[in-house]
Amino acid sequence: MDGACPCGTGRGYADCCGRLHAGAPAADAEALMRSRYSAYVREDAVYLLRSWHPSTRPPPIAFDEGGRPTWLGLTVLRHDPHGDSAAVEFIARYRIGGGSAVRMREHSRFVREDGHWFYVGAIDA
Ligand SMILES: [Zn+2]
Repeated sequence: MDGACPCGTGRGYADCCGRLHAGAPAADAEALMRSRYSAYVREDAVYLLRSWHPSTRPPPIAFDEGGRPTWLGLTVLRHDPHGDSAAVEFIARYRIGGGSAVRMREHSRFVREDGHWFYVGAIDA
């Protein structure tokens, strides 16, 4: 797929999250977080599971026809790297059907193992 990357960096998809979806390691937790947002947009369930830490990885994700969101954009608010762990705070906006736009704000934890970043989960406020 050509065109701008869904994650909003302004780069082309192939130059941005497309490389990560193809198997390249993420440079940092923010890049991984962005690639996961793009994977939601593209409904790449395999990538979402692969980038999820095994300790918190859910069962396979089903993108069902009914409640399928339309993703509207991503804003990264903060990226705090600390060696092999990092926190990223972001807002992802989406809409389901004809409903109004929803802002999902999350402060997420990431860890790096064997050179690969993984999403662990939300940090409790
Ligand atoms: Zn991207």
